[in-house]
Amino acid sequence: MKILIKNALILTVNQQNEVLGNADIAIDNGCLQAIGKVSDNFEADKVLDATKQIVLPGLVNAHTHIPMALFRNYADDLPFWPWLLEKIKPAEDHLSAEHVCWGAKLGVLELIQSGVTCFSDMYFYMDEVANVVKESGIRACLSGVLLEVDDLGPTFMKEAIDFHDSWHGKADGRINAFFGPHSMYLCGPEYLRETTAEARKRKTGIHIHLAESRQEVADSNEKYGKSPVQHLADLGLFECLTAAAHCVHVSSEDIELLAKHKVNVINNPTSNMKLANGFAPVDALLKRGVNVALG
Ligand SMILES: [Zn+2]
Repeated sequence: MKILIKNALILTVNQQNEVLGNADIAIDNGCLQAIGKVSDNFEADKVLDATKQIVLPGLVNAHTHIPMALFRNYADDLPFWPWLLEKIKPAEDHLSAEHVCWGAKLGVLELIQSGVTCFSDMYFYMDEVANVVKESGIRACLSGVLLEVDDLGPTFMKEAIDFHDSWHGKADGRINAFFGPHSMYLCGPEYLRETTAEARKRKTGIHIHLAESRQEVADSNEKYGKSPVQHLADLGLFECLTAAAHCVHVSSEDIELLAKHKVNVINNPTSNMKLANGFAPVDALLKRGVNVALG
C-alpha cells in the first residue's frame, strides 16, 4: 500500500533537527520513500491531508508496566512503599493471565493513541503482552520479571528464560526480549549474578528499577555498605546492556559509574511525583553524557 501524507509540518528529528513546513511524506509498504518533496510519479493508494498538523517520528516509552492500566486510580495518594507492598503487590497476587491480556490491550491502545510506537515493559504473564504486541503492530522490548519473593525465585527465573527464548526476535523482529530483575531490594546478589549470566549467555539486555526511593538507598547502604548503583556495578550487572528505570537518588559517584558503564537511564517523572519519590538529576546525568530516556 502506498500512502502520501500532504501539507504537514514535519519534525524530522534528524541530525540537524530540521523542521519542514508544508511538506509531504511518501510511504511504500510501511517504508518511508521520501520526506519533504515527493516525486509526482508516486502514485498513492491513500492520500492524507495533514494541513495544520505536525508529523514526527513515533515516541518511545522506555519504562512502563502496561497491564497496570487496570490499576489506574487504585491506591492513589500513598507514598511508594505502602503503595507497592500494602496495595499493589497484594492486588497483583490475584492477577490472572486473562487480566494481563486485557490490561495489555488497553495499555497498547493508549500508547498508540499517544503517538508511542515502541515501549519497554516488565511484568507478569509476559506471553500475554507479547501476543498483544504481535497482534497490534507496535514494537516492544519485553522482560519477564524476576523476583525473589515467597520462594518463587527459581520459578520466575525459568519463566523469564522461557519467555526470552520463545519471543526474542519474534513478531517480524518487532519484539526484543530482555531479562527483568525487579530491583536490587527484591533480588539478592546471587540471583542478580545468575540473571546477568543468563542474559549474557543470550547476548541480551537487562531492565531493572534502580535508586527509585530514598529508602532503597538507605537500606542498600545499611545492608551492603554501598549505594544501589555501586552494588549492581560490583555484581557485574552493567556488563550487560542495561536499562535502569528511575535513578532518582543517585550521587555524583553513582552518575560517574552509570556513565562509565554506558547504562541507559529511564526518567519517569510522572511515577516519581505520584509516589513522592522525588525528581531524577536529569541535567547532571545528561551533562555527564548518560543516555536518558523517558518512561
Ligand atoms: Zn516500574
